[in-house]
Amino acid sequence: MRTQPKGGGWLEVVCGPMFSGKSEELIRRLRRAEIAGQRALVVKPVIDDRYDVGHVVSHAGAKMRAVTATTPSEVQRLAQGYDAVGIDEVQFFDEGIIDAIDELVRRGARVVAAGLAQDFRGLPFGSMPTLLCVAEFVDKLEAVCHRCGGPATMTQRLVDGSPAPFEGETIQVGALDSYEARCRACFEPGEDASRVLPVTLIHSGRV
Ligand SMILES: [Zn+2]
Repeated sequence: MRTQPKGGGWLEVVCGPMFSGKSEELIRRLRRAEIAGQRALVVKPVIDDRYDVGHVVSHAGAKMRAVTATTPSEVQRLAQGYDAVGIDEVQFFDEGIIDAIDELVRRGARVVAAGLAQDFRGLPFGSMPTLLCVAEFVDKLEAVCHRCGGPATMTQRLVDGSPAPFEGETIQVGALDSYEARCRACFEPGEDASRVLPVTLIHSGRV
């Protein structure tokens, strides 16, 4: 069991690809905080309206009441007075979320931020690199590769069954028909991706 910081707040980041159970883990942690008698709140970006605007719902069906916010300052305002604050799909907020979370932690809140570490191109997603860097605790969850059944760390975006073009829109919250969890070996970069991939990957014949 982890030793929790004494006398102050802290940041926990739960990351991974789609279908890795991030929301499930967020809900589990916030539920436990509630059971422990803490004031707990879950915030999610307005963009994530997959299932239910008033709740955060995991792919596996776990559900917890949530409020929506459009900006980091709104997250900060909504979270005032709460002991434990869960932020789902944190990668969709602009970079102001870094300072907003920092401020909440400084005021003594435990913040649990869940989000995609990589976008569908396999590139770091939004503010996630910084949040992962400054967090006290980090958990990277794996999904199951849709192709080979191995541990999946990447999100494959498909458009009409083919890998999405590299230049496609980053933000699109979808379901099984347009996104798959893939391992690195089964991940198919979209068109034009080779020009930005590390030379070592290209030379190794993996792309
Ligand atoms: Zn695979």
